[in-house]
Amino acid sequence: MTVQPEQPTSDPRGTESAPEGGPAAAPAHRFRPGLDRIAAYRAGKPAPLGPGGRSFKLSSNESPYPPLASVARGLAEVLPASLARYPSIAAPEVAAALAARFEVGPESIVLGAGSVEVAAQMIHALTAPGDEVVFAWRSFEAYPILARAAGAVPVEVPLDADARHDLPAMAAAVTERTGIVFVCNPNNPTGTVVSRAELEEFMAAVPERVLVVIDEAYVHFDRDPGSPSGIEFFRRYPNVAVLHTFSKAYGLAGLRIGYAIARPTVAEVLRKVALPFGVSRLAQEAAVLSLDAEADLDERVDELVRERSRLFDGLLAAGLGPVPSQANFVWLPAGDESGRIAEALERHGVSARCFPGEGVRVTVGLPEENDAVLAAAAELVAAIV
Ligand SMILES: *Cc1c(COP(=O)(O)O)cnc(C)c1O
Repeated sequence: MTVQPEQPTSDPRGTESAPEGGPAAAPAHRFRPGLDRIAAYRAGKPAPLGPGGRSFKLSSNESPYPPLASVARGLAEVLPASLARYPSIAAPEVAAALAARFEVGPESIVLGAGSVEVAAQMIHALTAPGDEVVFAWRSFEAYPILARAAGAVPVEVPLDADARHDLPAMAAAVTERTGIVFVCNPNNPTGTVVSRAELEEFMAAVPERVLVVIDEAYVHFDRDPGSPSGIEFFRRYPNVAVLHTFSKAYGLAGLRIGYAIARPTVAEVLRKVALPFGVSRLAQEAAVLSLDAEADLDERVDELVRERSRLFDGLLAAGLGPVPSQANFVWLPAGDESGRIAEALERHGVSARCFPGEGVRVTVGLPEENDAVLAAAAELVAAIV
């Protein structure tokens, strides 16, 4: 398929006169072709007001907890000194802490303003215009956006009937033009995981030239003993890189810091295309402090995993057919009923993520938030019987 150059829609010389008192009309820039095919990222909606004026935002898989106490204290201390100066680009303290944690060299760690930025670095560094980026669909909605923004071609491989990655189909979708495959494990928005054996078979089928990125944004919540460990695959396969983030389990989504673990040759090119100074000093500080607070973190993650089970059981009992999840959210593959479910949740003050015609993703929140979801589910059952 050929991409048509964008046609200027109005006055090609940009000589339109400005409306009285307003700014001059936009001139006819030469935009990069294909940008009109990028769907804007749909962020989770703010929560509507529910009964008692309460509202619960369960639409973006954020942590429901305040920052860990040690992290909040540490950030308050560095705040005054951290704003006027540029941060360190190399972020040696974060790299050293992560390197020690995963027993890799610090040269294998690449940071970004969230792992989304690191995923963008990967696409920029490993695809030429027209090269392909393969991923499951539906999966993380940033993948097609980042691919198109870089001039690459997104290749979406449908999930199987159980809302899991269809790894044999993904391997078959790899062509000469494929630069990267993303394996989102657990998958956003379905919460499903691939098995170790499936991933091994997949690695055997994919040429070494292709970078296989295991996106483990939700790895802390994964309790499936059959799940592959991204870092273990990184050690065994030279063409594997792992993506991790501080946004989900660590509760630092607002600070923007994530990272890749990659072979030094890959890491080096990722750093070249990174946004200069993209990771703030505060984000770096929070990352180091978070890595020191693992015991506190584990407690919170365990609590969320318990709440996930309770939420899943309640949704199952209500007949909403939740998919078993290894992440901090639950997927309801409701098809045409998705809108109705999202509306019922809204009446209870809950904003979830609705994919019209496909399903609804509900983030696991605090117990009272999950109670609101279950109350909405009970109302839906009552409406059916
Ligand atoms: C939330 C999420 C991320 C993390 O994004 P950040 O940029 O680190 O906040 C990465 N991958 C997936 C699949 C996600 O759902």
